[in-house]
Amino acid sequence: MIHNKDESCHYETLYEEANGVVTRCPQCGMMQLAYGTSHYILGEWQFRKLDQKITAELHEVKEGACHDRKYFSIPVEHHVSRLFLSVNEAKELSNILQQAIWMANVNNTLKEG
Ligand SMILES: [Zn+2]
Repeated sequence: MIHNKDESCHYETLYEEANGVVTRCPQCGMMQLAYGTSHYILGEWQFRKLDQKITAELHEVKEGACHDRKYFSIPVEHHVSRLFLSVNEAKELSNILQQAIWMANVNNTLKEG
């Protein structure tokens, strides 16, 4: 669980593991992504866009690239901040984002039904 005293939103955890947490406010749809030492607050479509960017970057990894060395610099929202990731980290983060999106889709379906 992410503790953020400044927020009026009440975030629900969508996905959580040792190195990453994704939460969402069911009222306004704002998402929080904490991964490694970074913590981002994003709109839901920005969050989905980030997932698409990382997936696209992972398709471009050159054969023989070192998977533990920092390899990607992926922009997050308005290019103010970028994620600096190795291939292994990008794969891990991609998995976290996809698990969270899957959970968000389930929650949306439940709300509609
Ligand atoms: Zn909210």
